[in-house]
Amino acid sequence: MEYLPIFINLKDQLCVVVGGEKAASPKIALLLKAGAKVKVVALELSPAVAELVDQSNVIHQSAPFSPQDLDQCKLVIVAEDPSVSAKEVAKAAQERNIPVNVIDNTELCSFILPSIVDRSPVQVAISTGGTSPILARELRAKVEAMLPQSYGKLATLLGRFRSRSKELFQTSLERKKHWERIFSSRIIEDFLAGKEEQAQEALEQEFLSPQMSLSKQGQVCLVGAGPGDPDLLTIRALRQIQSADVIVYDRLVAPAILEYARRDAEMIYVGKKASQHVLPQEQINQILVDLAKEGKNVVRLKGGDPFIFGRGGEELEMLIQAGVDFQVVPGVTAASGCGTYAGIPLTHRDYAQSCVMVTGHLKKGELDLNWQSLVQPMQTLVFYMGLSNISVLCRELQKHGMSPDMPAALVERGTTKNQRVFTGTIANLPQLVEETKVKPPTLVIIGNVVSLQKKLSWFHPTGD
Ligand code: SAH
Repeated sequence: MEYLPIFINLKDQLCVVVGGEKAASPKIALLLKAGAKVKVVALELSPAVAELVDQSNVIHQSAPFSPQDLDQCKLVIVAEDPSVSAKEVAKAAQERNIPVNVIDNTELCSFILPSIVDRSPVQVAISTGGTSPILARELRAKVEAMLPQSYGKLATLLGRFRSRSKELFQTSLERKKHWERIFSSRIIEDFLAGKEEQAQEALEQEFLSPQMSLSKQGQVCLVGAGPGDPDLLTIRALRQIQSADVIVYDRLVAPAILEYARRDAEMIYVGKKASQHVLPQEQINQILVDLAKEGKNVVRLKGGDPFIFGRGGEELEMLIQAGVDFQVVPGVTAASGCGTYAGIPLTHRDYAQSCVMVTGHLKKGELDLNWQSLVQPMQTLVFYMGLSNISVLCRELQKHGMSPDMPAALVERGTTKNQRVFTGTIANLPQLVEETKVKPPTLVIIGNVVSLQKKLSWFHPTGD
């Protein structure tokens, strides 16, 4: 090991930054965050450093560096500039046994600063031993994405129970086992998912009468998988998928997203195609309830957003009725994903003040829509499941006063590498569907915003 990682308490301690170059400003900010008293020794300050000095309680000494500047100092950082001899400062610091870091000059450093993922009081420090700061930055981005924002809050909460754990259990082994049980229960995940009150109560209960409330109940997490591109998953969706015991998924969920599941996770396909339900909804609901009652951590994965034409609400009602606990993670819905990847902004100050999401799916054999409300100026219409009734759709819109020249687009398999986009007008849209042989999933976008498509189109995949 080249370096020993340690965390140092600098609260109210004097730290000296020598040099006023721009590179000094993030270091000064870091020291301030750690509660240090900062003194900057520099003849001149760059605007970034000057701003920090103005805004915070930073002392600025504009005389040249002299070793006495390090009196009482606990830590030195040097941002080299033409007026600073880093070697001289480093030597003075080493003579006084003060840790010193010279930015971008590892040889003169007695300590190096890591890349930091800050979820205070939880902190992750990453170092490549000074070999490659860019690699450390990459690693940091990965860890950032992995660690829920509320880890800090969680740590604070758990900290409050530490002394109670000591009162409750005599040995450290017992305490450890108890904490492990808490971590394997739902309490932690509930807390991270925002059910903070519930989690705190459960923890409270657990410390009043250990083991009582920790029966491993399962739960269902309704997760939106987005429109296709796996990179459009939310961080929380990814975390849920990665930790699920069972994944119950639809046809619209991209295979690449299923790859994120644990190797030993059970995968249950309940895919639906228009008018051809592989499993009736009641049966899907029952599967979810049964799995959760077995104590499984179930992810119900749906294309797009589960609350937009996803029957998510119905599934939740059923879960509530059965007394099964749940959470919901939103996803990028097809309207948003397809519009963006096709180059069609759904609203625009010159073309559309509103956007309506409409189902083109027949209910009881009829397309019973409020046509008049759909035919409004400055409005974009987005039809989900509109393909099989495209002729009725376009006919009714015209009948209710929409101009036959109204621009319209078909976005097939939007956001995926097989995306195809076709534009026309509502007069020729049914013909366009026939000619291009577009298949579901296809989104129909109607409105003047479609006229921007040619100009704004940017996503041009080359297919498989
Ligand atoms: N809950 C989903 C919608 C499910 S309804 C969501 O929020 O996106 C299914 C319809 O969504 C399809 O018939 C199609 O019209 C549309 N759709 C979903 N994904 C799509 C995609 N990648 N490209 C085009 N249309 C899509």
